[in-house]
Amino acid sequence: MNAEIIAVGSELLLGQITNTNARFISAQLSELGINVYYHTVVGDNPQRLEEVVETAKQRADLIIFSGGLGPTKDDLTKETIARLVGRKLVTDEEAMQSIEAFFAKRNRLMTENNRKQALIIEGSDVLVNRHGMAPGMLLEDGTHTYMLLPGPPNELEPMFQFEAKPLLAAKLNNEECVIVSHVMRFYGIGESELEERVQHILEAQTNPTIAPLASAGEVTLRITAKAATLTEANRLNAEKERELQALVGQYQYGVNDDTIVSKTVAMLSKHNLKIAAAESLTAGMFQAELADISGVGTVLVGGVVVYNEKMKEQQLGISRDFIEAHTVVSAEVAREMAKAVQRKFGTEIGIGLTGAAGPMPHGNSAPGTVFVGIAINDDVETYELHLQGQRNSNRIRTVKFACHYLMR
Ligand code: ATP
Ligand code: MG
Repeated sequence: MNAEIIAVGSELLLGQITNTNARFISAQLSELGINVYYHTVVGDNPQRLEEVVETAKQRADLIIFSGGLGPTKDDLTKETIARLVGRKLVTDEEAMQSIEAFFAKRNRLMTENNRKQALIIEGSDVLVNRHGMAPGMLLEDGTHTYMLLPGPPNELEPMFQFEAKPLLAAKLNNEECVIVSHVMRFYGIGESELEERVQHILEAQTNPTIAPLASAGEVTLRITAKAATLTEANRLNAEKERELQALVGQYQYGVNDDTIVSKTVAMLSKHNLKIAAAESLTAGMFQAELADISGVGTVLVGGVVVYNEKMKEQQLGISRDFIEAHTVVSAEVAREMAKAVQRKFGTEIGIGLTGAAGPMPHGNSAPGTVFVGIAINDDVETYELHLQGQRNSNRIRTVKFACHYLMR
């Protein structure tokens, strides 16, 4: 089965939003072994929508639409497809009830417009929308399968996963195969070095295939296996992962949706360790990133933002003389910051972050020079970084490197 995804929405063409729905649907379809050959984006214009559907019909069996199911005038996907397959729009009682319930629950008045959302193309299977009003639809016209999904990702994603995917899976016969991807995540190694170390594996790849990717200081390897069953595909991926781990395993911090911050929090929580941070160039970013992870309350105790020297003295007791002797961007100051905040908050771990975020140098320190101090019980280690990015990326990388060092 071959698929084409048609995302409808002028805001996509205007560059106001990114077509994340196509990405999501593609990833889901590949798990089912359905090949996606085309992504199409078209504005809220019935004639152009009709044209792209005609084209899609010539090259795909399954055509999936995202967007344009809402109640407003520019939402025209449903009407256009109904016309193309020569069917009427009819009210779906269940959808009407769930729309009424949606309004009742929120104590809002329902307008005539909203009733339009209960209209479905005659003869289609309804895909229930648990997070919004517009129901999705799955229908066939003898030659093609059409799936209509709402635009908002928080509605589309669960609808696809829990409503549409099982229906599609049932349609597929057993001969077709599954494609499963597994992502290995690395920190503290550059893309080219990683590639070099695993080069012979990259060159010999067939099934699974391996794709390296670098972004925001991280490198990933996506391993993708094709097999008759999910179990077999997972086995092939796991085998390949072990092979790669033998070469670059020391840089791997996680898999799939893990982030270096979430893994750090999980590690601290597992070992029952509490942490506090003294932040200069990051000015609270370290704590904010940790606080993004739910359940961090058992790990993160608090910290101080000590941007200027006076505060380093007042909050942490690091004297002006000491700072002057070593300069503020130094291993010595990072070390003292880590120890002082550890003491102040009574935690097992103290973090000290000081550096020149850029683009200007800080005294004699070049932009991107950063020192990370990590106090763990009675030990203190310091690390020196020379980051090459813009100001903000240097700050966020400082946070990620601090997590990386913590996990070692
Ligand atoms: P609504 O009932 O909210 O109007 P709809 O099905 O009519 O839903 P659209 O009006 O096309 O959908 O889009 C609604 C919102 O969904 C957009 O403003 C955008 O935030 C998001 N959205 C739409 N299409 C996409 C897409 N392809 N990728 C990511 N987000 C999208
Ligand atoms: Mg809309």
